[in-house]
Amino acid sequence: MSEPNVKSTSPLLPSQHERLAENWKSVVDDVAEACRREGRDASEVCIVGVTKYVDASMTAALHGLGCHHLGENRPQVLWKKAEVLSSAGHTPQWHQIGQLQTNKVRRLLRHRPIIHTLDRDKLVECVVEESGRACVTTPCMIEVNISGDENKSGLPIESTMMFVHENGLANRSTVQWTGLMGMSGRQSDNSDVRAQFASLRQLRDQLQTEFGLSLPMLSMGMSGDFQAAIAEGATHVRIGSRLFDGLMPN
Ligand SMILES: *Cc1c(COP(=O)(O)O)cnc(C)c1O
Repeated sequence: MSEPNVKSTSPLLPSQHERLAENWKSVVDDVAEACRREGRDASEVCIVGVTKYVDASMTAALHGLGCHHLGENRPQVLWKKAEVLSSAGHTPQWHQIGQLQTNKVRRLLRHRPIIHTLDRDKLVECVVEESGRACVTTPCMIEVNISGDENKSGLPIESTMMFVHENGLANRSTVQWTGLMGMSGRQSDNSDVRAQFASLRQLRDQLQTEFGLSLPMLSMGMSGDFQAAIAEGATHVRIGSRLFDGLMPN
């Protein structure tokens, strides 16, 4: 797959736009249905459209269809798309959902993202400092490794208490600790996935009680497992491939 063009936007072909609109509607409907089954209100769950697979034109078109929250895993793609989209009149709420290097933080913060992936002391220090410098408060979630797979990113569950103890209380002026993010393990079966999401919610509850923090956001669930995540209290589902079904180059 070649690198998507993130340097400019142009209108989609009508057939592509139609397909994208259908995909978006089907995701919105399925999220609403999952909420209904769990007795939750659909307004409690924010769909973050993960646009890492597609170019700036497709990203802009998705925003135009009403997907107001967009997520990218690479900061340099996020800021490039943010610049291009904003000059075309699109100003979504951006979400940084992938690993973040400290040397990318300053430029990223210009776009006022929600960061889902705080996972180490150095990164917290950097976001605190750069947010202060830019006179902004940055909403941040802590990424937790709920799959138990050592190759996966995020803090081990058992280290999260200590991480918040050491970082969370002192830094509340420029970094707003808003919740937790997690990804299920790929090989897990369905009940396993649900248990992993439940563990993130329980950890969140524990942190709130222990530290008197308000951590309303639970970013969990992707194209393949958002129903289970919604059942366990997700407030942000990160949906990528389902939105671009039939639209991605392979
Ligand atoms: C790619 C990605 C997603 C979206 O995954 P899909 O399975 O394509 O919906 C969600 N979260 C993160 C962190 C990702 O990197």
